[in-house]
Parts: sequence; structure tokens; C-alpha cells
Amino acid sequence: MKAPFLITKEEILKFYKPVNPLTHKGLQGHAVIIAGSYGKIGAAVLASKACLKSGCGLVTTFTPKCAYQILQISIPEVMVVTDENTNSITNIHFPIVPQAIGIGPGIGQELATQKALFEFLRTNKIPLVLDADALNILAENQSWLELVPENTILTPHPKELERLIGKWNSESEKFQKTIAFSEKYKVIIVMKGAPTYIVNKQEIYENTTGNAALATAGSGDTLTGIITSFLAQNYEPKDAAKLGVFIHGLTADIALPETGYQSFIASDIIANLGKAFL
Ligand code: AMP
Ligand code: MG
Repeated sequence: MKAPFLITKEEILKFYKPVNPLTHKGLQGHAVIIAGSYGKIGAAVLASKACLKSGCGLVTTFTPKCAYQILQISIPEVMVVTDENTNSITNIHFPIVPQAIGIGPGIGQELATQKALFEFLRTNKIPLVLDADALNILAENQSWLELVPENTILTPHPKELERLIGKWNSESEKFQKTIAFSEKYKVIIVMKGAPTYIVNKQEIYENTTGNAALATAGSGDTLTGIITSFLAQNYEPKDAAKLGVFIHGLTADIALPETGYQSFIASDIIANLGKAFL
């Protein structure tokens, strides 16, 4: 395995796009976040808010009916389209054509949700971020990965990665298998952990931000929102993944002197995005 490229501030600034003073929301990208099921609507809130707070002009959240008021009240800036089902996602449809879609946080793995994911993947051509239960469903139905657009970004934590690529006996085998998976399905894999690596076929990048404060509920859901936001803002998928993990980790580095490791929660990632961008 070649030594990974480090994702540093210097590397990020080579492709980072400052906001154009003459822009308007219609030029800043429209993202759709498909997330949530009964008892896990927080995942939809966290991913959607992180998406909006990462510079996307418009965010629409597709979620089960039970999430409608929760989302409209907790994030008035986000538009909401609901599934006809009360508790889980069963039929994915929204009346817009976004620039990027993030799917998975908190969706669960009910059969109806699995079928909805299949139908969605069968027809969708829009750049994608796949996370959480979307990955777990795909791990059980690997042939569906043939349906995802080239350069789709997958964001597995170690257990989700294991379900996708199988067990490994050494770090080098883990990377070999991840590289093979990335080449086979032409996808970008964000191997979340300490540190996080990004595998894009033979290329490996290592993030330099973040700390153990990020080991907390909902942390990955915010990362999905952040990366989807950059994808919607027209970053190359590889760059959206790099900028996403860098900014996500930076929020925890900035917050640490105030929160310590213990009292940092996923909402603190969102609260510190502004300082991270600055
Ligand atoms: P998830 O398990 O999906 O909530 O994702 C957890 C997020 O937190 C990922 O972005 C991980 O890289 C990050 N994370 C978890 N534990 C650590 C750690 N000990 N050090 C740095 N980042 C971590
Ligand atoms: Mg997760």
C-alpha cells in the first residue's frame, strides 16, 4: 500500500471555493436528504441541518410522515416532503431535481424501505452520498451497488465497512479489500474512524482533523449532510468527501477546549461549522 496523501488545510485550500459575493440561493445548490424513521428522526434533523449549515442554498428533506412537524419546527429553513407511510420510508419521490442526494441516516432496514431504496437506485442519476442503513441494506443486496452512479460517496463506520467488504485480518488487508470494492463499483469510500481515510480506487487520503469527541451519537449523520452539501455545491465528489471530513473533524478540534471529550455532542458539530469555515 502506498503512503496516503494527507488532507491538510493547505491541500483543502487548493480546491476550496469561497462564496461569490454576487451569488444567490439558487446558485448555491439544492440538496435532498433522505433520512429518518420512527424514533430516529433526530438523524434526519442532524443531517439536514448540517447540510444547510455547510453552504447549500436549499435543502429538502424526504422523511416519513411522523417527522413532518419535528422537522418544520426544529429547522424552519428546510423544506420537507413526506412519505405516505407514517413511520418509515416506503416510496421515495420529491417534486424537484436537486444537485445531490444524501440517503441513509436513521432510515432503518424494513422490507418496504429496502424496496424503496432499490426503486430509487434503479431510476436515480443524481450524485449520491450513501450512509448508515442505506449501506447496511446494500451490504445485504450487493448487486444493487451496480445501480449507483459512478463516484457515489459511501460513508461507512468500521462495522458498516465490514458488512460491505467482509472481515479483514490486518490493516493492509482492510485497505486492499476497500480498494478492490472502490474499483469494482466505481465508488468513493470514506472509511470513518480515527483517523478517517478516503479510498478512491488506488488513491488513499488520510484526514488530519478530528478527535475522540466525535465518537458520539449522530456524529456520522452530520457528516452525511456536510458531504451532500458540498456535492450539491458542485465540488467534484472526491473533493466533497475530502472537504467534508476535514471540516467535520475541525469542528471537534475547535470545540474541544470548551466541551472536553465527554460533553461534545453531534449538535456541537453543527454549532461549530461556522468557526470551522472561518
Ligand atoms: P458514525 O459512527 O456514523 O456516527 O460516525 C462517527 C464519526 O465520528 C465519523 O466521522 C468518525 O470518523 C468520527 N469519529 C468517531 N470516533 C472517532 C475518534 N476516536 N477520533 C476521531 N474521529 C472519530
Ligand atoms: Mg452513522
